[in-house]
Amino acid sequence: MPEIAVISEDLCAQLVTPKAAFAAVEGVFAAMAKGEARNFPVVREALGHAEALYGFKSGFDKAGMALGLKSGGFWPGNMARGLTNHQSTIFLFDPDTGQLQALVGGNYLTAIRTAAASSVSIAHLARADAKVLGMVGAGHQSAFQLRAAARQRAFERVVAWNPHPEMLPKLAAVAEELGLPFAAVEREALGAEADVIITITSAFAPLMMRDWIKPGTHVACMGTDTKGKQEVDAHLLAAATVFTDEVAQSVSLGEAQHAVAAGLIHEGDIVPLGAVINGTHPGRVSADEITVFDGTGVGLQDLAVAHVAMRAAQERGLGARVTL
Ligand code: NAD
Repeated sequence: MPEIAVISEDLCAQLVTPKAAFAAVEGVFAAMAKGEARNFPVVREALGHAEALYGFKSGFDKAGMALGLKSGGFWPGNMARGLTNHQSTIFLFDPDTGQLQALVGGNYLTAIRTAAASSVSIAHLARADAKVLGMVGAGHQSAFQLRAAARQRAFERVVAWNPHPEMLPKLAAVAEELGLPFAAVEREALGAEADVIITITSAFAPLMMRDWIKPGTHVACMGTDTKGKQEVDAHLLAAATVFTDEVAQSVSLGEAQHAVAAGLIHEGDIVPLGAVINGTHPGRVSADEITVFDGTGVGLQDLAVAHVAMRAAQERGLGARVTL
């Protein structure tokens, strides 16, 4: 009978630091680009109940020996119940036997691995002299995004916009905690000021237009993870070098779906970020280049951070164990 580790949300938050998540996500993006790790097709469906989107993300990382899935999704009414809208659980299986190894809370890990993805993109693609961070979005993920981004460049200021301005003070408090001056601005002003922009909203129509983005900006589009969602003008992708976690997801459910459908860019124009990490693509080649990272969110990111949690729990003898 297999013994299964049960790792709670609280324990994940204790065991998986932003630094560890960065290393795990950077490593798995590199493995994906080398063909050593593979995501399986995503299932994501509207339930027709509670306006929820529910599905599975799964994969196998042969380099890290992580096999499993994340099950969960997005319940927009949860916030009113005092819960986060995103809810998920990660299951890890033994790649040698298929036996369940661990049951891991997925909410904190989703936030930390999504923030790690944009921060890996900033580390590899943003200009080294980036000073102003622009945040579009102020929901649950945005605080994690801001904290992770702040580790990558010597930002001097944060400018932010959100369709629901009443949500901005919470993000302002995070900036204050990080010692970064914060200003709520209009979208055009955000584009004119920011050297790095993170979009992390549930938008279904472009919030940032191509003409508002100045040369040399790095834009990490993190909110679009479903068919039909869109955060930026498709013409921005045509004007930029576009990178992604996984090309197949980028063109089907990521931010690039619209630019590809409109014929503004082609699938072959989109570069896996792992190729930059592995040194097989140069990444940014000039200070004027606009770079876009289409962070669609892949199952292997979830497995990578869940694996970190499982190993750390084993090493320290933490977490419950049950026999199935
Ligand atoms: P949240 O519900 O806490 O916040 C939602 C954010 O989107 C807020 O900024 C809100 O003002 C804005 N918003 C809500 N409805 C909108 C609309 N119709 N048009 C424009 N903006 C709208 O959500 P969250 O947990 O912060 O997640 C934000 C987004 O990121 C979600 O869409 C979620 O699916 C996505 N997400 C992506 C990944 C990934 O890996 N790419 C991972 C986690 C979450």
